Amino acid sequence: MTDPSGCGGSESALSVAQARDTLLSAISAVAGWETVPIRSALGRVLMRDVIAPFDVPAHDNSAMDGYAVRAEDLSAAENRLAVVGTAYAGGAFSGVVGPGQAVRVMTGAVLPRGADSVVVQEVAKMDGDQVILPAVQKPGQNVRRAGEDLAAGKPALAAGKKIGPSELGLMASLGFAEVAVRRRPRIAFFSTGDELASIGRPLAPGEVYDSNRYTLFGALTQLGVDILDMGVVRDDPAAMEQAFAEAAEQADAILTTGGVSVGEADFVKDIMARLGEVRFWKIDIKPGRPMAFGRLGNAWLFGLPGNPVAVMVNFYQIVLDALVKLQGVDPLPIRPAFQVRAAAPIRKLSGRREFPRGVLFQEGGEWKVRLSGNQGSGVLRSMAEANCFIVLPEESGSVAAGDLVQVQPFQGAL
Ligand code: AMP
Ligand code: MG
Repeated sequence: MTDPSGCGGSESALSVAQARDTLLSAISAVAGWETVPIRSALGRVLMRDVIAPFDVPAHDNSAMDGYAVRAEDLSAAENRLAVVGTAYAGGAFSGVVGPGQAVRVMTGAVLPRGADSVVVQEVAKMDGDQVILPAVQKPGQNVRRAGEDLAAGKPALAAGKKIGPSELGLMASLGFAEVAVRRRPRIAFFSTGDELASIGRPLAPGEVYDSNRYTLFGALTQLGVDILDMGVVRDDPAAMEQAFAEAAEQADAILTTGGVSVGEADFVKDIMARLGEVRFWKIDIKPGRPMAFGRLGNAWLFGLPGNPVAVMVNFYQIVLDALVKLQGVDPLPIRPAFQVRAAAPIRKLSGRREFPRGVLFQEGGEWKVRLSGNQGSGVLRSMAEANCFIVLPEESGSVAAGDLVQVQPFQGAL
């Protein structure tokens, strides 16, 4: 591969969509898988379709507490039937419901043979061992059919699905104790910068604490990948070369922060290019603009900017779905967003796609969004206080109060 970006030109500016598409078309799922007990499969990705070994539900059963009947017996406004037994969930009625008969049934009980419909108990009147029932509205009512949820032999879950609580429950409902999941991608990351201090010691003049490694630690851990935290690497070409070489031996992808602009100490992209194959991009995104993407040995390279908010915006808007694809999941073609009204004006000058940080709130029964304070690309507080990204597309100008804007809530997205 000579051009992992797939987009000619050396330093052309890409749209966010182009950058994302380029990553997604270059990257495919890691090879390798393992079989794990289903509890350990939470957050993992299905390697193969899960095939239902039997119908779910296995038998026709009652959806309600009531009376199992033959619909044809309930034709008059009021019908009197003989109650000939009871069927509990887990305890079938062994006889057959004959003409003029009903069986008391509980929710989930196997539908007694002969019956085709269930009348809810709320409309029933007992009279000795008889029950008085109104006419059936619809033959088959209140009955869950065998195979209605899942048919035997058909896929219940598709390969490439990330396993959450509902998938765990569904696999358990099919009796599976174990499941084949894809290997977790291993992601190495390090911060670059001579000004960076590690937490746990006092700051010298001009230093800042390295926060990017902690945001990336959080984001990658939530994503469910294996992480390899390689610490801070100085703005020193030899040290960086060594760090890249070491990371490439162990990881499926390498994320770095800082050093990809055009400053004198910005060595990351040159070293990436020297050791591997790399495209350096300017992306029409704000915050965050420079980004390097490439390949070194068997590892993908992602050189993110240095500013803490730019790192997060870049990660969630561009890199995240590439890592999701590496995990074996096909991401949605575009990141989902929905529209709410801006509570106050939002200034936008650039022709870039901007991702201000916002707070979604409810007012007068309507959801609205406002900015989460200082939007500087180094001000992490605007991320911490936000609960969504606001998406202002390339072509949009400033937003007036009351205008509709797109938002991506952090829940689920972050
Ligand atoms: P750079 O792209 O390396 O020039 O960094 C841009 C800005 O982000 C500078 O103000 C850096 O001090 C800051 N920065 C870079 N890396 C980090 C980091 N790991 N943690 C906190 N701030 C950083
Ligand atoms: Mg730097």
